[in-house]
Amino acid sequence: MKKIAVFPGSFDPFTIGHEGIVKRALNLFDEIIIAVGANALKKNYYPVHVRKEMIGRVFQDEPRVKVDHYEGLTVDYCIRHNARYILRGLRTAADFEFERAIAQVNKALAADVESVFFLTIPEHSPINSSIVRDIIRSGGDASRFVPAAIKLKDYKGEEE
Ligand code: ADP
Repeated sequence: MKKIAVFPGSFDPFTIGHEGIVKRALNLFDEIIIAVGANALKKNYYPVHVRKEMIGRVFQDEPRVKVDHYEGLTVDYCIRHNARYILRGLRTAADFEFERAIAQVNKALAADVESVFFLTIPEHSPINSSIVRDIIRSGGDASRFVPAAIKLKDYKGEEE
């Protein structure tokens, strides 16, 4: 059976930290679905379709990576797509505590879906989407924090 993992997240925007996790996980899984969470209640900077397009560019030559969006429970999305693994990245102890609670609740909701964590490489641990957004909003150059395929100047975010 094909090993399919879902990498859920906001990816607002997708960073080199996210890219690093996906690339390493490709050694473990046959297919990775990067699933952009479309939470109507959450105010985002880049609209979902823009985030999907950015991520699609990064993996345009990697057929084993799919890009999608979803609403509702991550485990329900996994079951609908025959994915038995949820992929998440860990940077810090704070990430661990946050992820632990989500993963344990997800396990209670769907016993067949396993959460798998990758520790980020040290160079990527300070990178997070909210800092990247702050740099962009303030007119700075955030290009070194996002994959080279994402040309930030081609996209416009929405002010909060
Ligand atoms: P969410 O809102 O679901 O936390 P994010 O886009 O912030 O969405 O993060 C998605 C996943 O990627 C999370 O597991 C997060 O810990 C991980 N992640 C975020 N930034 C990095 C990074 N620099 N290195 C490794 N993993 C990261």
